[in-house]
Amino acid sequence: MYKPGDVRVEERADPRIELPTDAVIRLSATCVCGSDLWPYRGVQPVTEPSPMGHEYVGVVEAVGGEVTSVRPGQFVVGSFWASDNTCEICRAGYQSACVHRVPMGMFGSQAEYLRVPLADGTLVATPEVPGAGLIPSYLAASDVLGTGWFAADAAQAGPGKTVAVVGDGAVGLLAVLAARQMGAERIIAMSRHADRQKLALEFGATDIVTERGDEGIAKIKELTNGLGAHSVVEAVGTQEAMRQAIRSARPGGHVGFVGVSHDVRLDGMEMFWSLVHLHGGPAPVRRYLPDLMHRIATGAVEPGKVFDLELPLDQAAEGYRAMDERRAIKALLHP
Ligand SMILES: [Zn+2]
Repeated sequence: MYKPGDVRVEERADPRIELPTDAVIRLSATCVCGSDLWPYRGVQPVTEPSPMGHEYVGVVEAVGGEVTSVRPGQFVVGSFWASDNTCEICRAGYQSACVHRVPMGMFGSQAEYLRVPLADGTLVATPEVPGAGLIPSYLAASDVLGTGWFAADAAQAGPGKTVAVVGDGAVGLLAVLAARQMGAERIIAMSRHADRQKLALEFGATDIVTERGDEGIAKIKELTNGLGAHSVVEAVGTQEAMRQAIRSARPGGHVGFVGVSHDVRLDGMEMFWSLVHLHGGPAPVRRYLPDLMHRIATGAVEPGKVFDLELPLDQAAEGYRAMDERRAIKALLHP
């Protein structure tokens, strides 16, 4: 990305093994993230031409001398933070805050090849190289499924719970899928786009709310005997979405927030009286990867359905445009 709205596909040097803990993978597929739209729209500054992308699946090409858990030829999934998976924070399940974490976005996975630091801790291999039909779902596990899953988990979705989801992007839609897998009784998707509503219902939503803001909050209350939802997922990152999420939760309820926060301010007195639990942040996708990959392999979930646009890598700019203009939920790129 050269500047907001300016995405170009160029030749760069192939990544090489630089540290004995590295792997280099050949990407099977990559994609554009909703969070890539913040710099694309100029909300986040772009100070110099930067490689883009942090979601990836692929086949291991080479590994450094200290790598023991993956080997060349294996199909692997990783997430947007490389993590050692051994430090105290990782062992507690918060690999996205690993003391040795490395942000994968700095390497740019919207590419043909990618260097992955801390390969043993970061990458999870499948038993066999999967068929082409499963690739989009594994790619979804790399970020949007894992992030939606963390949001639903942080919101304590589960049996007997009513879950409301604010945000109908790929993460919000997959939070619906996660809540369904976790056994939630009622799942309310907040969306005003027909194609996204359809996918939400396919993923397990029981109700659709098209209202936003105060009207949206009132609608959630109306559907929950005036109490609010037990669990609310916030998957946008704006003040309006965060406010809507907190006010849609009942006292004692949980809000899982995973939208990258932009200028969100919380009112202390409102938080005090709300009696709501807040938990969120960059999802520790690595915690969930083995379980999610198993569910994909067995056909229990098909999160790859969020990709409604597939393009060759050299048309990446069109993928950004389509998502920016909301013509596409999520664009998959074929390297
Ligand atoms: Zn760690």
